[in-house]
Amino acid sequence: MQKMKPILRLLLPLGLSLLGCARGGFTPSERRIIEQSDSVMYVTTVGHPSDSLLLRTPSTDLPPQALRSPLLQTLVAKMNRTVLDPRQDGVGLAAPQVGINRRVIVLWREDKPGQPYETYVNVHLEERLGNIVTGPEGCLSVPPYRGMVPRSECVIVSYLDAYTLKPHRDTVRGYAAIIFQHECDHLDGILYIDRADTVFLDTDWAAQRKEFDYSRPEWME
Ligand code: ZN
Repeated sequence: MQKMKPILRLLLPLGLSLLGCARGGFTPSERRIIEQSDSVMYVTTVGHPSDSLLLRTPSTDLPPQALRSPLLQTLVAKMNRTVLDPRQDGVGLAAPQVGINRRVIVLWREDKPGQPYETYVNVHLEERLGNIVTGPEGCLSVPPYRGMVPRSECVIVSYLDAYTLKPHRDTVRGYAAIIFQHECDHLDGILYIDRADTVFLDTDWAAQRKEFDYSRPEWME
């Protein structure tokens, strides 16, 4: 190693701190959310101004450094626990719904044997195919409403497997195709209420969530 000039010695800490900002490929705010969240994460809702901003911000792909980071697996595990929590009873969840504007989603593959929940990283909706079908949708970020939403019956998606990080391109039909469209919309800052023909209050859901704690963790502010 070559001896450094004084000016370089002065600049080194600045350089290291800038490197620190991108450590692991996640921003400091993303790291804080992933590390400090409970195993069931806080879910952003349209009723909170800061959450609403997050939900309306388009998400970006994770860079290679983030894909290699153990933080990604922590995020995937926590997102899965969150969508599977009986209090949420969700069929899908997108990263902006836990405060992270990255293209990561978890969803229920009711079209696959065993009907697993699967996680997709850097996911993109490539094509919408087939007829338009209209059906009811709800969203953990828009409680306690539902709406009738027109969607394509078939989609082609590209993504990285969350565990192997291998790229895939799949054709998906049926209810899973609807969920893919709902969750990929989240990644573009779009909510189902933007596409719905009608939106209505779900009184059963309202009753179920009466005791639900909507408070945003202070450390997220
Ligand atoms: Zn949603």
